[in-house]
Amino acid sequence: MTFDYDPQNIFARILRGEIPNKTVYENDHALAFHDIAPQAPVHVLIIPKGAYVSFDHFARDASAEEQAGFMLAVAEVCRIAGVEDGFRAIANTRKHGVQDVPHFHLHILGGRVLGPMLPRG
Ligand code: 5GP
Repeated sequence: MTFDYDPQNIFARILRGEIPNKTVYENDHALAFHDIAPQAPVHVLIIPKGAYVSFDHFARDASAEEQAGFMLAVAEVCRIAGVEDGFRAIANTRKHGVQDVPHFHLHILGGRVLGPMLPRG
């Protein structure tokens, strides 16, 4: 499988500082910021700083350091957001996953009971 990265996608522009964001946490390999249209009291997006289109692209091609940095960001976001009662992590991927922004991002949603994982049917 080939992954074609579009450097003009909105999260690439956020990483270049061309578009502002409300940063929650940042390290050498990842940036976390509030979603512009939150769907829960906690709705944070965590993105790698490298040019990865999707979760499977990142899992296949990111270095061990990049993957460790990303996972540290997940832990720090959960700590900062205070989601002790639980949360949901979602990585929408391509057409069937209804991914809108083609730069890998993990949604961290919490702050309330989120309901069923998927609509029935
Ligand atoms: P996807 O459907 O690709 O999984 O989710 C993309 C997410 O990015 C959506 O939840 C959307 O609200 C968020 N988003 C889109 N554009 C921006 C933006 O410019 N800034 C921020 N903070 N979030 C954005």
